[in-house]
Amino acid sequence: MIADKLLNQLTKVKRTGRESWIACCPAHSDKNPSMTITEKDDGRVLVHCFAGCSVDSILGAVGMTFDDLFPERVADPYAPTKPERMPFNPRDVLAAVSTESLIVALSGSQLANGEPLSEENNKRLMLAVERLQDAARICHAD
Ligand SMILES: [Zn+2]
Repeated sequence: MIADKLLNQLTKVKRTGRESWIACCPAHSDKNPSMTITEKDDGRVLVHCFAGCSVDSILGAVGMTFDDLFPERVADPYAPTKPERMPFNPRDVLAAVSTESLIVALSGSQLANGEPLSEENNKRLMLAVERLQDAARICHAD
């Protein structure tokens, strides 16, 4: 099973369903499990950190890549060549860009009103910028 490879590298793994687990996120200091891992029927493995870590950073923390989350395809020499599918849904990326741009706008208008950003809000702003750059990168726009 594909999820095993990832689960073996995680701590406090607990099964929450037939093909789903929670575990401590390896990408941030996580004392209580805040990451979900789900293996879909088609073999794909989805990971999500509720603290907001990107899938990239989660995989990077355990030395894995996106390819490790997808089942190996059996090469069929007679299959017609299909355009390569992207490992993300463009709508999800646009939704994230929309949310993150709102954070940037709110921070900007607060600063324009002469109010300094709290440390927490400044961190959130930096996260938004990081996510916007990630979005551009996974779409090969930069
Ligand atoms: Zn995390």
